[in-house]
Amino acid sequence: MSIFEDITAIQNIIYIVASILFISGIKMLGKEDTAVKGNFLSALAMFIAVLVTFISELENEPFILIGGILVGAIIGSTIALKVRMTSIPEMVALFNGFGGLATFLIAWSQFDSIGDHYFQHLLAIITAYIGGLTFTGSLIAYGKLSEKLKVVKTSIITKIFTTIFYGSILFLIFSILQPFLPEIGFNFFTVLLVITLLGGIGFVLPIGGGDMPVVISLLNSFSGIAAAFAGLLLLNNVLIVAGSLVGASGLILTVIMAKAMNRSINNILFVGYASASKGSSSEEQGEVSPINVADAFLILESASSVLIIPGYGMAVAQAQHVVRELGELLEENGTEVKYGIHPVAGRMPGHMNVLLAEANVPYDVLAEPDDVNPIMDSVDVAVVIGANDVVNPSATEEPGSPIYGMPIIEVHNAKTVFVLKRSMSSGFAGVQNPLFFKQNTRMLFGDAKESIGGLVSEFKD
Ligand code: NDP
Repeated sequence: MSIFEDITAIQNIIYIVASILFISGIKMLGKEDTAVKGNFLSALAMFIAVLVTFISELENEPFILIGGILVGAIIGSTIALKVRMTSIPEMVALFNGFGGLATFLIAWSQFDSIGDHYFQHLLAIITAYIGGLTFTGSLIAYGKLSEKLKVVKTSIITKIFTTIFYGSILFLIFSILQPFLPEIGFNFFTVLLVITLLGGIGFVLPIGGGDMPVVISLLNSFSGIAAAFAGLLLLNNVLIVAGSLVGASGLILTVIMAKAMNRSINNILFVGYASASKGSSSEEQGEVSPINVADAFLILESASSVLIIPGYGMAVAQAQHVVRELGELLEENGTEVKYGIHPVAGRMPGHMNVLLAEANVPYDVLAEPDDVNPIMDSVDVAVVIGANDVVNPSATEEPGSPIYGMPIIEVHNAKTVFVLKRSMSSGFAGVQNPLFFKQNTRMLFGDAKESIGGLVSEFKD
């Protein structure tokens, strides 16, 4: 008996092993001390699954298989090795998109061999639709995250693509029902492929800056769901399991992110942000009070409680290690130090947790907005490090602001606030921040790593 004849049974047993490794790996990712091992286990599971599939298919198309694996491995590892820490969110968006593209191509390649099987017809159509939407939607998300794409929600182009997105939903329904409808004079599947790709652009294009975290997790989930459907189409068990895991965990994350933004998913996808009212926070709001490192040190030295609020700028400056050092020096000085972590701070879910864990900041000093907001008036100094939108009081005080309704860390209620950033420029949502103009706020201008480094040196002298 050749290896290719009895491979199916062995293949399925190995797929079950890979699935168990996937599930254990994901579970381990939930705790910081097992996360690295969990990541390794999941990668090992993927390696095993690819290897077994490769061996089982070797008989059919060896050169295409080897070529595909080589090209994918070279592109994937080059991108992953070269990427800067600050560009990881864009890379994740792009990789979600490639997952979508792969399933889109699978559905396309399988469609002609389906024949009269309605269930297969349904699977191919849904796989193509979700995969295509994920692919082009992720490309737009990549453009927005890397700030290469600035989109005006009300522009005519955005409106055209949004209309195509709604049209694609109608065409999807038509395609699903096609076997029961009279024959039509054109190839509806080709039209579906094209309208799906254009619809993906319209799906993400109008979504407001602050809502991007929800969209990213949704696209992540879609890439998994599309893979699970592709698994059903190809009758590949490991693809079904891995796809379902990604789909389900992505959906849970989407719900968590939507809750963090105090928005319903329906509202984000189909309504979008309220447009900013005239005279809102986009305008300058008076004078700011700058402070230098030496004066900031004197205030910090006599503070009995300090709350550190990191944001995207801490990631840009790669300031997490000096931030941890400052926290330790403050504690040695008798100050109580906590970190206020906003769920959408940075550019990807858990961004701040990852950076602070990398710098060995203990998890028990990290607090959520709901924990710190009620006690904010007892905080002596709130040190905002490269955060902007997540501490913008317009979100609670200014109906009509594009970020109105988003829960924030209410640092403006602390006794003194230091804001560390390089200029007066806005954050991701593109709105001015009234916090900078408040009486209790001092602006410590400069690169966050340099400013914190300066404070650390003052403490050490
Ligand atoms: P923001 O993007 O609102 O602000 C970051 C601030 O960092 C900027 O104002 C910038 O000001 C400052 N900054 C940049 N570089 C440096 C540096 N080297 N040193 C000091 N400061 C620096 O960040 P937040 O974390 O407050 O908010 C995240 C935003 O991103 C939210 O709107 C969120 O919705 C969105 N988002 C989040 C995602 C997620 O999953 N977490 C995904 C997609 C979007 P300056 O240039 O003046 O220095």
